[in-house]
Amino acid sequence: MLDVIKLLPDSVANQIAAGEVIQRPASAVKELMENSLDAGATQIDLVVKDAGKALIMVVDNGCGMSETDARLCFERHATSKISKAEDLFSIRTMGFRGEALASIAAIAQVELKTRRKEDEVGVKIINEGSVVKEQTLVPMAVGTTFTIKNLFFNVPARRNFLKSPAAEMRHVVEEFTRVTLMNPEVGFTLTSDGKELYHLYPGNLKQRIMGLFGSNYDGKLLPVNQETDRVSIHGYIVKAEFAKKTRGEQYFFVNKRYIKHPYLHHAIENAFMEMIPKDSFPGYFLNIEVDPADIDVNIHPTKTEVNFLDVKLVYAILHAAVRKAIGQNNLSPMIDFDEPTNLGIDFGEVVKSSNPIVQPSIPVDPTYNPFHQKKEFSKSSFGGGYSAGEKKSDPGDWRLLYGERTDESPKDDSQDTSSNTLDKSKYIQLNQSYIITTVKSGLLVIDQHLAHYRILFEKFLKELESDSGHSQQELFPQPFTLNANDASVLREMLPELQRLGFVLEQANATTFMINGTPADLSECTPAELLEKMLDNYKINRTDLQLDRKLCMAKTMASQLSIKAQTPLSELEMQNIADQLFGCSVAEIAPDGKKIYTLLTLEELTQKL
Ligand code: ADP
Ligand code: MG
Repeated sequence: MLDVIKLLPDSVANQIAAGEVIQRPASAVKELMENSLDAGATQIDLVVKDAGKALIMVVDNGCGMSETDARLCFERHATSKISKAEDLFSIRTMGFRGEALASIAAIAQVELKTRRKEDEVGVKIINEGSVVKEQTLVPMAVGTTFTIKNLFFNVPARRNFLKSPAAEMRHVVEEFTRVTLMNPEVGFTLTSDGKELYHLYPGNLKQRIMGLFGSNYDGKLLPVNQETDRVSIHGYIVKAEFAKKTRGEQYFFVNKRYIKHPYLHHAIENAFMEMIPKDSFPGYFLNIEVDPADIDVNIHPTKTEVNFLDVKLVYAILHAAVRKAIGQNNLSPMIDFDEPTNLGIDFGEVVKSSNPIVQPSIPVDPTYNPFHQKKEFSKSSFGGGYSAGEKKSDPGDWRLLYGERTDESPKDDSQDTSSNTLDKSKYIQLNQSYIITTVKSGLLVIDQHLAHYRILFEKFLKELESDSGHSQQELFPQPFTLNANDASVLREMLPELQRLGFVLEQANATTFMINGTPADLSECTPAELLEKMLDNYKINRTDLQLDRKLCMAKTMASQLSIKAQTPLSELEMQNIADQLFGCSVAEIAPDGKKIYTLLTLEELTQKL
């Protein structure tokens, strides 16, 4: 029998390898641009024709190559970036496999022109289908220009497989975006069929985002900055209110390398979870810097996948970083509760005198005795974190319009025409479900259930994070019996339940005694609540502490929050409004629903 195994010629091997590295024009764009960055270029210009199918040209002002290197760079495994296996663990460059140029040359007509600064002239090499066709000296500026013509000219199957020029161009722009985003200090241009699509000047990340996505991004971004020993995270997230209905700007990088990592993407989405509507997607531009020894980027030929040594740690830090950014910046659109200006009136005196008759007319009687005896007014800006008892100023002019009954603390009204008109800002309840109040810019309608849901959610989350739950001892401890499976799940939940204020004691394998419950449990029985928590916990069970906490806080909050069709006193309404706007996110409930809406004066004017 004859031997049948043959070694494939290099050109064929390269063509096969090319299939992995170069799937479409955009892949070549990425590889060439990354090479230019690795070469230290400060200006990189990309020119394409027919979405890269006819021509891709990348011009850089990087370090250039010697004549020998210029020939060698088309060889497989020819790389200047690593020389021994250990180097794989300290990779800082974008490339290192030495495959890209060999692959591109195998399936296209390539012209390389390159010159180092120590050389008088540059060298030009033409390589077609892995064969060097020409080599000459050329005068040129320092740097490198790669011109790729007729990609897949010798692989018709691949060429036919390409999508429409519009679709391929979208891929090209996407790769261009990924590369340019993380290198804002480098200038880039992209010209397609003679038209300049992007002209990106050197700058910072924010400027680069604006250069790529439009200058209106200026007001949409929140900075993320988190430094730990092992990981540092920098970049921007898009404010929740600008979340998009389609997966839009989601850019995640590791050591500036664009990465697809569903698990870490989840960390970001999860951090936004209860702040954006269910059908919307958060936007982000985040780079994680880690020691190259802590990751393995070698697992995928196009290097869009990365393995982390400790991915759970990265998940937790990423999640925390995004939440911190959200928390530090109020995601709610500003609603201006008027700040009271000091009119020199002693409210302490005012509230002492009595006048029980409510004045529906203007001006309101300043000697009116309000029900709520509050002498001091707190600042009422959003995110100020005032507590429930504190008073928020509110011009409350609707009351005057409607001639409503008023029965609360007096307010001054800086906008008011007469200084002795004390505004007794009010809250009214509509349909026992909505809290209505006024703000400077109009009428605010708050869904009482969703508002309370948000308030309790943040409270429970804080308790879960800080050990601060309060419990109330049960006079008659109740037994809570489950099946063996559920009992073991409940055991798993015990530390968190304890933080939330439950005091549970295991009586036997399947029964727990409920010795204490969260202090503000009133809407349902402890057993009902525990069952709900258990159910939701099982549905959302993951091995991640963060998810567990979010899930438990959500269940508790949804169970215990005031429902629609519940009458509320004015003080209760006021407390809800106050606490809501002290939340880190006031606009969206943990289930993604909008909590309040503002009917602006402008809208009103249009309607009336
Ligand atoms: P890798 O980037 O993985 O090293 P490539 O096939 O992309 O492999 O490139 C091979 C080598 O060619 C690089 O290691 C580098 O030395 C050289 N090279 C490629 N492009 C450029 C460029 N634009 N400027 C200078 N050197 C380059
Ligand atoms: Mg490369």
